[in-house]
Amino acid sequence: MIYQGNAVSVQLLDDGIAELKFDLQGESVNKFNQETVEDLGKAVEAIQGNSDIKGLIVTSGKGVFIVGADITEFTDMFKLPEDEIAGWCLKSNKVFNAFEDLDIPKVAAVNGIALGGGLEMCLAADFRILSEKAQVGLPEVKLGLFPGFGGTVRMPRLIGVDNAVEWIAAGGQHRADKALKVGVADAVVAHDKLQDAAIALVKQCLEGKIDFRAKRQEKLEPLKLPPMENMMAFQTCMAMVMGQAGKNYPAPVAAVKAMQTAAGMNRDQALEVEAKGFAKVAKTPQATALVGLFLADQAVKKVNGKTAKGTKAIDQAAVLGAGIMGGGIAFQSALKGTPIIMKDIADKALDLGMSEASKLLSKRVSKGKLDAAGMGKVLSAIRPTLNYGDFDNVNVIVEAVVENQKIKQSVLAETEGKVKEGTVLASNTSTISITKLAEALERPQDFAGMHFFNPVHMMPLVEVIRGEKTSDETVATLVAYAQKMGKNPIVVNDCPGFLVNRVLFPYFGGFGMLMRDGADFQAVDKVMQKFGWPMGPAYLMDVVGIDTGVHAAQVMAEGFPERMQYDFKDVSTVMFENNRYGQKNGVGFYKYELDKKGKTQKVVDETTYELIKPHVADTKEFDAEEIIARMMIPMCTETVRCLEDNIVGSAAEADMAMIYGIGFPPFRGGPLRYIDSIGVQAFVELCDKYAHLGGIYEAPQMLKDMAAKGESFFA
Ligand code: NAD
Repeated sequence: MIYQGNAVSVQLLDDGIAELKFDLQGESVNKFNQETVEDLGKAVEAIQGNSDIKGLIVTSGKGVFIVGADITEFTDMFKLPEDEIAGWCLKSNKVFNAFEDLDIPKVAAVNGIALGGGLEMCLAADFRILSEKAQVGLPEVKLGLFPGFGGTVRMPRLIGVDNAVEWIAAGGQHRADKALKVGVADAVVAHDKLQDAAIALVKQCLEGKIDFRAKRQEKLEPLKLPPMENMMAFQTCMAMVMGQAGKNYPAPVAAVKAMQTAAGMNRDQALEVEAKGFAKVAKTPQATALVGLFLADQAVKKVNGKTAKGTKAIDQAAVLGAGIMGGGIAFQSALKGTPIIMKDIADKALDLGMSEASKLLSKRVSKGKLDAAGMGKVLSAIRPTLNYGDFDNVNVIVEAVVENQKIKQSVLAETEGKVKEGTVLASNTSTISITKLAEALERPQDFAGMHFFNPVHMMPLVEVIRGEKTSDETVATLVAYAQKMGKNPIVVNDCPGFLVNRVLFPYFGGFGMLMRDGADFQAVDKVMQKFGWPMGPAYLMDVVGIDTGVHAAQVMAEGFPERMQYDFKDVSTVMFENNRYGQKNGVGFYKYELDKKGKTQKVVDETTYELIKPHVADTKEFDAEEIIARMMIPMCTETVRCLEDNIVGSAAEADMAMIYGIGFPPFRGGPLRYIDSIGVQAFVELCDKYAHLGGIYEAPQMLKDMAAKGESFFA
């Protein structure tokens, strides 16, 4: 052994060829934490001092190559001043450069995932051979950052400006064949031939058949294109990237700017530009929010992993109701490998459920995501039925019949009588108390809520709702089933609206008050969309369905009358009373028409203004800051109350639920991180400013206490 560290080792194989292996001890994957970078530096020094080594292959001792930087180290590091962050990048780059400058042929043998710093390490080698199983990419922009270990420098010099911009600004993860096509990989080989192929390539270099020095030299020099052509290439790319990323995501544009600035420079100068640019984006609120989001996502997965540990296998599921939700649940369950019985009371409903599943599968086939045989397999895993035969072999049953307490209770009680003890029953109700539904059951411990969002195949969140008598095993089974379906479960306690709707409806309450006071719904929609929401509140109400929204608002008002019972007629109610239910019947706040291509188009309908006129103040202009405050405070304070009332277990879970469930702008990190970004004390003062509007604007006690103690939700 030439070198043995905790993360990296170097040993001599045959014929003067050495193997530098990444194998971070005590971890299941390799990642570039500070320890690994330092270890790599020592390994390179050991190679420099060893004249027996004539060539090098770089390998991994894990199932992945290197998954990227250790993001848990970012939070503290990004609190440092900009110049210190840039200094950290340059220090790490010294190690990468020392590796690159070793005057021997070096081939990275990429066996699996190599992302971010993992791929940047490979770029510092002279050649990259990928297993056909490898996946590579530079996903830093997804964290509000851009590559800081030389990615913006080496990538354009290796694969050209256009390709480098695409890889870096979009942050995608690419298969080995795609990497070969653009030149990120020099060869792709069968997984079991990887090491032999890497050694063979080193040998060819040593025999003088391939000029590895020339290959390396390209990465050390300025970009090859003449300055004018470079400028043109960057300008075209910049316009495209700006259009795609939008103002709320500055990192992709900053990455292109760094590449452009450094185009005429040699490697070491270019790395300085990269380090400075990296430090700048690392200090943006977007990076703080997106890094926080990544960590919150990991935390939620850990909590769920612990909850679902040791649950029995879920081999067969059932769903009651083949409607919009039941059909969606059946499709998703079958797609992800759990066969499902779909029971309804009407043949027509079953046919509709099956044809919807078939349509979704055909789309996947046309996109090349599935073949005809795969489609047949998924379809045959959904068994439509009108009776309860075979229900005694089912592990989990999700009820998704009409939203009516009496009907649901009778369907659930009937089903309970057909299944074995321990079979988990769940309801997909949006508004009915789980504890109340459980009153109709003999075994309430086997029952919980499992709240999917529409459309089921698209929406990542599932709320698992614990009723008063729900057992831990039942919760665990539903968490495991949601995970098996490829969803992100969040466990919450029962209350009106559960977590997501309880937090969403005060936001609609804020919208109602703004309208009452004379705001224009189109102006509010525009401001909130610019704030980062996929759509504004009026449009969202149209998409959810105004009838559904009005019903849910009534449930919330009964549940929390002190805050959510309003003393004015809400504009949504006005729409509802005029049979304007939104997209589902073609008219709500907006009108929905088909364009020439047959696509639904949202258009302004002047009737809306006429209908609401008697119920609202004269039209008045509100500035964006006030609209944002009046919309966001109710949502944020209600999220705090859910934490205060133990409806949700942690700040991370609360924020993730809003992002997965209703598309809270990811770059703002979730309602609680949004409060942090304003500052808890400043947010309490903002609440005080608007408290005269009603209870949904009052700062919860928890927030006041945190402000007094100088605390925040996240470190
Ligand atoms: P839907 O009207 O589209 O479907 C209901 C289905 O249940 C129908 O096919 C009906 O024939 C069937 N049904 C009625 N009684 C039955 C019985 N006794 N046994 C078996 N099937 C029976 O309704 P949906 O939109 O799919 O909603 C279903 C549930 O999901 C409701 O509780 C709703 O609140 C909830 N939910 C809906 C949404 C949404 O956006 N649609 C979102 C989340 C939750």
